[in-house]
Amino acid sequence: MTTTVRSLTTVRNIGIMAHIDAGKTTTAERILFFTGVSRRIGEVHDGAAALDFLKQERDRGITITSAATTCHWTVDGTEHTLNLIDTPGHVDFTIEVERCLRVLDGAVTVFDGVAGVEPQSETVWRQADRYGVPRICFVNKMDRAGADLHRCVGMIRERLGAVPLVMQLPIGAEAGFEGVVDLVSGRAHVWPDDRHTVVDVPADLAEDARRWRAALVETVAEHDEELMDLYLGGTEPSPEQVHAAIRRLTVASVVTPVFCGSAYRNKGVQPLLDAVVRYLPSPLDVDTAHGVPDDDAPLSALAFKIMTDRFLGRLTFVRIYSGRLVSGASALNSVKARKERIGKIYRVHAGDREEIGSAGAGDIVAVMGLKRTTTGETLCDADHPVILESMDFPAPVIEVA
Ligand code: GDP
Repeated sequence: MTTTVRSLTTVRNIGIMAHIDAGKTTTAERILFFTGVSRRIGEVHDGAAALDFLKQERDRGITITSAATTCHWTVDGTEHTLNLIDTPGHVDFTIEVERCLRVLDGAVTVFDGVAGVEPQSETVWRQADRYGVPRICFVNKMDRAGADLHRCVGMIRERLGAVPLVMQLPIGAEAGFEGVVDLVSGRAHVWPDDRHTVVDVPADLAEDARRWRAALVETVAEHDEELMDLYLGGTEPSPEQVHAAIRRLTVASVVTPVFCGSAYRNKGVQPLLDAVVRYLPSPLDVDTAHGVPDDDAPLSALAFKIMTDRFLGRLTFVRIYSGRLVSGASALNSVKARKERIGKIYRVHAGDREEIGSAGAGDIVAVMGLKRTTTGETLCDADHPVILESMDFPAPVIEVA
């Protein structure tokens, strides 16, 4: 059993949303794959070890089989915990989709680089709008004939009414798609033989990159006072200052940064993971009706999915909004007005299950042994009863004790 000292600033509870066939599953699988690789062999930037590992492991096929999968990603020397929440494949206006949106703090929206914004992309976008879920976009399938990042960005602006920020320029196109120029750092990410390598911007793209970076900084400055002050003062903002401004605007759902790649060809996923960490909110950033997550407050947790695990049997996935969930303790199911004993608590990873003794506010974990709790029900402190999801769902009414 592990006990982790956790800082909520390093937690990201995210979902992936897309029109069917845009590459949601492929992107999620690659995220699990690359986070697993980086954890097991360190940085994946170079080295034959990484390449061997990729070759050996690729065909094992990691798939999301869980309602929430925990993985880790290090950015600027700090390891972050990513809880990847599986949003249902169907995009009807259903309770299940809405429940997932309520549980996550941010999302990656995947588009097909050829088809752009499709009808279901609009549906999921509106649902996320309704719940105020901050988003970053991933224009996938850049290796396909006819893929066009800028057309897709135009559709995001016009059809979704968003303020898209072009964060990258593609290097090469279609079958010759090689990688991306990162407009904030002014570096290029390429994947020769699958290896994630950071290099100088190719000479023929240098002028374009300068222009697009200026456009990016200008758009961000228009919406962010701190950056505007620098801009007006004639100071060229540092990458850190640009990151910070984009983070503020993304968390507030003012802008949506747009990235591109080809999940299937293993290109673009590592920068996307960096972006998840850099721009999507931690549980502390999200202004929810539940208030700031506090481990010392009375327990309130929402059961959002029940699954049968191959190894562990019935598991109830919960998002803890306040307080701590402790294995062996009891909690009140406020909807049924019955006490439940909290069994073992797990973090579910792509390949294994990690038992933890307790979990705190902002976290998403799986609990074994809950007999009476079904999805949508609240577990809370018996002395402070609270119902997180109202019975007349989907009206977003939240009661806090
Ligand atoms: P989902 O329905 O959104 O989960 O989409 P999938 O991940 O199942 O992908 C749908 C199809 O598109 C599959 O045949 C994938 O192999 C393919 N696909 C996914 N990503 C890419 C990509 O980057 N390039 C190309 N050419 N095909 C892709």
